[in-house]
Amino acid sequence: MEDSFVVVGGDAAGLSAASKCKREDPERDVVVYERGRWISYAHCGTPYYVKGEVEDLTDLLSLSPEEVEERGIDLRRGREVVDVDSDAKEVEVEDTEGDVTTKSYDDLLIASGARAIESPVAGVELAGAYTLHGLDDAAAIRSHLTPPEEHSVDGFTDEVDVERVRRAGEMEPPTSVAVVGGGYVGVEMAEAFSAWPVDIHLYQRPSQLLPEFGEAVGSQVESHLLERGVELHLDTEVEAIRGDGHVEAVETADSVVTEVEMALVGVGVRANVEPVEDEVELGESGAIEVDRYGRTSAEDVYAAGDCAVSHHTVTDDTAWVPLGLTANRAGRAVGATVAGTETEVGEIAATAMVKAFDLECARTGLVTEEEARRHGYKAESVTVDAGSRSGYYPGAEKTTVTLTADVDTGRLLGGAIVGRDRAAVRIDTVATAVEAELTVRETMNLDLGYAPPFSPVWSPVLVAAKVLDGELNS
Ligand SMILES: Cc1cc2nc3c(=O)[nH]c(=O)nc-3n(C[C@H](O)[C@H](O)[C@H](O)COP(=O)(O)OP(=O)(O)OC[C@H]3O[C@@H](n4cnc5c(N)ncnc54)[C@H](O)[C@@H]3O)c2cc1C
Repeated sequence: MEDSFVVVGGDAAGLSAASKCKREDPERDVVVYERGRWISYAHCGTPYYVKGEVEDLTDLLSLSPEEVEERGIDLRRGREVVDVDSDAKEVEVEDTEGDVTTKSYDDLLIASGARAIESPVAGVELAGAYTLHGLDDAAAIRSHLTPPEEHSVDGFTDEVDVERVRRAGEMEPPTSVAVVGGGYVGVEMAEAFSAWPVDIHLYQRPSQLLPEFGEAVGSQVESHLLERGVELHLDTEVEAIRGDGHVEAVETADSVVTEVEMALVGVGVRANVEPVEDEVELGESGAIEVDRYGRTSAEDVYAAGDCAVSHHTVTDDTAWVPLGLTANRAGRAVGATVAGTETEVGEIAATAMVKAFDLECARTGLVTEEEARRHGYKAESVTVDAGSRSGYYPGAEKTTVTLTADVDTGRLLGGAIVGRDRAAVRIDTVATAVEAELTVRETMNLDLGYAPPFSPVWSPVLVAAKVLDGELNS
């Protein structure tokens, strides 16, 4: 009997697992089921495709189906795993014609990702209303924004939903768009829309943009978006997108109606767990609970990527933070484990970066005192402005760093950074310190690089650590 490793999902987590397993154990039968046509694509680049900064949709692809097959992986596109029976150790697979077959497995990886949430906003089915989760969404949005005389479906691959792109291209380009949601997708899409001649309204239910990045980042992004002409509606819930067949307006919970011709709903994602939801334990977020090796509660069933939780390095609890590196790393680890080398999927610090027009934003660990207190820490935070380069060197910009520490032990718990000049990548120092469980004093004494064009003598992270160390020891 074949020793099959069956993978559900042909993107970051799924193909990382399949490739690693096949590399480690070339004799293994590795089968990947992908319900769509696209594989190995970069969701993360889709806002920049809509903006036009990334020219071709195919630039967002990494491996081609042929390259995957050259690795000895049996890739089956247009095949949806609709059910898992973990007692019989088999999956039920439906093809695009609706025909269903079964396939037995020795090891199974669920790497089915997540999907964009549409509810509670009504009207997302109207023409001109979009979510952004995949290349077809991005292609349709850019096609709708493009003037008819410039519109063409030439140059796309066979994978794209040509009919959808054509339909979107037949609509008049909008003159106004509502972005619903001020998380990272909403903020990135506001920037993307700014490259087109449209008025942009951004609606955010909380009073702050990018809430997970803390107040200092949120307030600077707010001012910057206003400067860049985005009309912000904070503390405002959109109840419905209105229109007769196509988007004509958005209506808020306070019954304020604003006319718009396009809407982008970016209010979060939900884990795709349907085929396996009765077989494995799910967490509060709805994502699949896994141990440190990506094992679910069902024997020989693993989960990795956006459909699964991770272990948080600071809280020591599970957390659902669906991001790219987490998916690639967890998939790769599961691939190694099923090939015979037990490998931990690694912890997360929920490190994330976002570009908001000219501002770079980043966060890691527990950013605010409130967040740290929710996890049982007696916390202290500081927010400090420092220069990005020596003050006399051209290009120096304000960099704002928030650091948060545990008052009892002095351990650095997390932080956030915002600025215009290579601010976001500085978070990697903070993330490393958080994962290494450094104290604020140890962080303050790190030997970081200095040269006027790159960083001042005291880098913004060191300046913030010095100030926080002073607070903790005052
Ligand atoms: C607009 C956008 C921007 C982003 N930007 C960033 C960023 O800047 N940085 C970052 O770290 N992360 C970012 N992310 C998140 C990142 O893209 C995801 O974390 C990553 O793609 C997760 O990979 P995955 O393999 O778990 O899931 P996915 O990439 O979603 O792949 C899952 C695959 O499984 C398939 N599938 C689902 N169910 C089935 C089934 N039953 N049978 C067969 N196939 C199935 C799906 O069709 C899909 O192809 C962004 C996401 C979006 C949407």
